[in-house]
Amino acid sequence: MTLAKLSISELRVALDSKKISAVELAEYFLARAESNADLNAFLHRDRDLTLAEARRADAQIANGNASALTGIPIAHKDIFVTRDWRTTAGSKMLENYISPFDATVVEKLNAAGMVCLGKLNCDEFAMGSSNENSAFGAVKNPWDKSRIPGGSSGGSAAAIAAGLAPAATGTDTGGSLRQPAAMCGITAIKPTYGRVSRYGMVAFASSLDQGGPMAKSAEDCALLLDAMMGFDAKDSTSVSARENNETPISARLLTAFGSDNRSGAGVSKPLAGVRVGVPKEFFGVGLSPDVAHAVDSAIAQFEKLGASRTEISLPRTRLAIPAYYVIAPAEASSNLSRFDGVRYGHRAKEYKDLADMIAKSRAEGFGAEVKRRILVGAYVLSHGYYDAYYLQAQKVRRLIAQDFQDAFKQCDFVMGPVAPTTAWKVGEKSNDPVAMYLEDIFTLGVSLAGLPGMSVPCGFDQQKLPIGLQIIGNYFDEAKMLAAAHQYQLATDWHTRSPEAFQ
Ligand code: GLN
Repeated sequence: MTLAKLSISELRVALDSKKISAVELAEYFLARAESNADLNAFLHRDRDLTLAEARRADAQIANGNASALTGIPIAHKDIFVTRDWRTTAGSKMLENYISPFDATVVEKLNAAGMVCLGKLNCDEFAMGSSNENSAFGAVKNPWDKSRIPGGSSGGSAAAIAAGLAPAATGTDTGGSLRQPAAMCGITAIKPTYGRVSRYGMVAFASSLDQGGPMAKSAEDCALLLDAMMGFDAKDSTSVSARENNETPISARLLTAFGSDNRSGAGVSKPLAGVRVGVPKEFFGVGLSPDVAHAVDSAIAQFEKLGASRTEISLPRTRLAIPAYYVIAPAEASSNLSRFDGVRYGHRAKEYKDLADMIAKSRAEGFGAEVKRRILVGAYVLSHGYYDAYYLQAQKVRRLIAQDFQDAFKQCDFVMGPVAPTTAWKVGEKSNDPVAMYLEDIFTLGVSLAGLPGMSVPCGFDQQKLPIGLQIIGNYFDEAKMLAAAHQYQLATDWHTRSPEAFQ
């Protein structure tokens, strides 16, 4: 088996037993990234920096000070600021930006001894569902290079699917961890809002933005999430969770449902007593029959593992798109006002006066989708429209969160599709923003409610494109969600498949 196929724990064994060094491992992934540069997954790589980190990891391993992640390579979505690498957020506005500090997530993963392979492409300021909004070009889906990898964390998902990195960070404001994971056949989890620090994540919509891990399996995501999460005084919405200091999530994968599940795969009904709620609104018109079939079979597999299935209702599902596409642009218009050609980033070369300098810098620095959001956001926040749009959307947001709480009275997890379709062709929806927004129907509610949600590979459509199952948990239920997903992955092999061209 090639190194690209190994899980984090398998790589750990290889490193600890000195079968391979962190430097060799980093070299291996850098070479894969180099020879697959046409995917456009990486925006910045720096061999010397990566190898210096790998040497430090090797020293740590030699000293017997290795943690579970020491020497394991990772790449970061280019929305996490880094002191050593440029951070562009996929925007011309930040083309040459170097941050004076590392994001908390980056700092934590560095402290765990992970080796950074570079920065990954994404939609500009994380706005998009296809990665086509990056100022540095679209990312290709490794399963079919004529298709999009999903977005906005498209570079992260493509890099893992193609085996260019065993792990990556991503962010999810309305689905950007889950949807690209689904479209590239990998596993990702968006944690409960506030669980992973937003400090040093270039802001899009602050009440929704949440970082999380992307990898090949739930087990790998658990290891990464353990290292990423935790209270951070530098993030005003960081939760001082009661759970933060208890047993790591990765140590609870086989015990999260009680001691009866200890033997994992050996137990025939490890998920006995777990109630899965399936919202009828997630299976309506617009859902591809192949996606519906794969998701239904995945839920049947959970039943085989002992879970029970009940139909539930999330009646405000259809309101998630209008509410999100008011709230997210409103927050974006405010967050992006800092890009004025003075404090950060791009400044126009020629201008008449201050106002002209700001206008030209913003006109040149931002792409079309970002401008569209700033316009919509400024509009819905303006006098006379605030009550009609923004305030109304906030009320709908509360009702959507309430729908989930009503659902969780009847079930432990909500399960359904991540997206209505599999990956579409590059260019297919790029001139129709509304068609693109409609793809977010199943992920936005979770974000508006601040709930944890994950995507788990569960099959392929007739064109051999991957399909993701969405698992939604209640607040702080990440350990249970990852444990349930882990049981599913012990019983199935969808998550082990990789595109033929990238074995
Ligand atoms: N597709 C959604 C948007 O464009 C979500 C993006 C995200 O989660 N960052 O806003």
